[in-house]
Amino acid sequence: MDFLRYYAEQLRSRFDNTTHRPLGPVVCISPWNFPLAIFTGQVAAALAAGNVVLAKPAEQTPLVAAWAVRALHDSGVPPGALQLLPGRGENVGATLVADPRVNGVLFTGSTEVARLLQRTVAQRLTAQGQLLPLIAETGGQNAMIVDSSALAEQAVADIVSSAFDSAGQRCSALRLLCLQHDVADRVLTMLQGAVQELQVADPRWLATDVGPVIDAEARDSIEGHVQAMAAKGRKVWRMTLDPATASRGFYVAPTVIEINSVGDLGREVFGPVLHVLRYPREGLAALLTQVNGLGYGLTQGVHTRIDETVAQVLGASSAGNVYVNRNMVGAVVGVQPFGGEGLSGTGPKAGGPLYLLRLLASKPWNAARQALDFAAGATEPRPKPLTLRDKPADDALAALRAWAQGRGLVSLVEHCDRAAQAAPVIAGLRLPGPTGESNVYQVTARHGVLCLVDPQPAADLDRLLQLASVLAVGGDAVWTRDARDLFLRLPPEVRDRIRVADDWKSPDVGFDAVLHHGSPSSWLATAATLAARPGAIIGMTGLAPGDAQIPLERLVVERSVSTNTAAAGGNASLMTIA
Ligand code: NAD
Repeated sequence: MDFLRYYAEQLRSRFDNTTHRPLGPVVCISPWNFPLAIFTGQVAAALAAGNVVLAKPAEQTPLVAAWAVRALHDSGVPPGALQLLPGRGENVGATLVADPRVNGVLFTGSTEVARLLQRTVAQRLTAQGQLLPLIAETGGQNAMIVDSSALAEQAVADIVSSAFDSAGQRCSALRLLCLQHDVADRVLTMLQGAVQELQVADPRWLATDVGPVIDAEARDSIEGHVQAMAAKGRKVWRMTLDPATASRGFYVAPTVIEINSVGDLGREVFGPVLHVLRYPREGLAALLTQVNGLGYGLTQGVHTRIDETVAQVLGASSAGNVYVNRNMVGAVVGVQPFGGEGLSGTGPKAGGPLYLLRLLASKPWNAARQALDFAAGATEPRPKPLTLRDKPADDALAALRAWAQGRGLVSLVEHCDRAAQAAPVIAGLRLPGPTGESNVYQVTARHGVLCLVDPQPAADLDRLLQLASVLAVGGDAVWTRDARDLFLRLPPEVRDRIRVADDWKSPDVGFDAVLHHGSPSSWLATAATLAARPGAIIGMTGLAPGDAQIPLERLVVERSVSTNTAAAGGNASLMTIA
């Protein structure tokens, strides 16, 4: 219901049939672990944006999806606008994604399947001649930091719910608990006591805390991981299961495994298994770097009563959703817009202000800015200057503008001004939430935008339009070798924000978004190269030469930070420790 209402509200308040045009038929592929909420969320968004939906639920949960589709049809959604196609992913799902009539794909599920879909969608254009949108929401290796100032009783309650609610079958679930050495033994003892109290049983009973995992295959794979860790000599602690319960379903005993390093983790284990790593106080920065090094970026938690530590974790985190002094599961639509970065997903965040924009074939150029202003409570377009912008006057953008003015590049000067106005960047917007919780939503630049331009007479101007767009959101650009002459002519403040790569196809060159001015066939060649690259799915925008309508929302990432503001109690002297 939250998804249906949230997207409907956005549609009613901001969309106009003359300016906001849908993609056409889109495919929604969902996982089994939220068989109603994720299924409905995808379908609701795709319908709200005006698309026709082919919904492919997970093979484990077709009946819940059938029920949801029936409810939507009964409520007036035309049968032709929403069609249910249950079946196996490898055939029904793969066939739908490859069908040339399909103009967009919304996928939630494993990182591995998302990569397969990326390769398929990279092979063709939409009916409107654009690159096919793929929104992928995938898995995580979610860490929580607990330092010695944390209130152990509170941390343990939040660890238990984050790691073991829904038998750990949430994408957001805690997988890696990082305990400061000084308190590790005490917290672990308390944690084991709390876990032993959990009721692992049939989920139909109210007293049940942890149910079974989805099927025998899942159980066997989780058990295989636990055995492998034990065989490697890692310390494994497991709750004792009631044998009568264990024999009646695919139950997995909640498990805690002590590991020696972040590198021990391997791939996502989708069940009630919590890995624990001890870290020295002075090792926090290195630990945060190692967690980021896993390449995922879905959820992250921190329990501490020291503000500087909260700031350090937030500053270093590359997770889409960060939780402070609370559990790290259960994102609420419109309150904690949800979705990850890197190997965890492409964005935009589900239940957030930018999601519907990705499901449109055309929209006003400043639609993302309008969406943020609307989220901030402004229903009318704001007069200049926009008050919410992160960096109202980016020095490099100002330097580029002055440089362009000095050379009479009028269209570039105008583009700098328009991009500065339209930049969908927000330093911190408080979203509504319950008392005792602060929910802040941020939109900031991606790490690096690869800027590609086909050789053509206006190539340099296209490069500069791209650059102005990247600078307007506060980002950095990655240029190719053939742009070196232009690079050398730019002012130093602008050059500081450009990296020139000898070979952008080398895995050593880092970027997390791509702009490409050129022909559709060269976009497809780039898309295929990106799909073959290991690592995260990188979003790409193809533009015709001279096109200045660069969608700025593709150059940013969204973050949600949810803080339990009632948690900072206890020993007040701790709060003064810097
Ligand atoms: P999965 O990837 O196995 O399946 C997801 C969907 O993809 C299913 O509908 C499946 O039938 C379909 N599919 C499988 N192979 C396909 C193919 N070749 N072509 C097209 N479709 C195909 O994932 P799962 O086991 O159902 O779900 C668990 C995973 O989902 C975990 O990794 C979890 O982290 C992730 N997840 C992520 C989020 C999020 O918002 N980031 C939310 C929930 C679950």
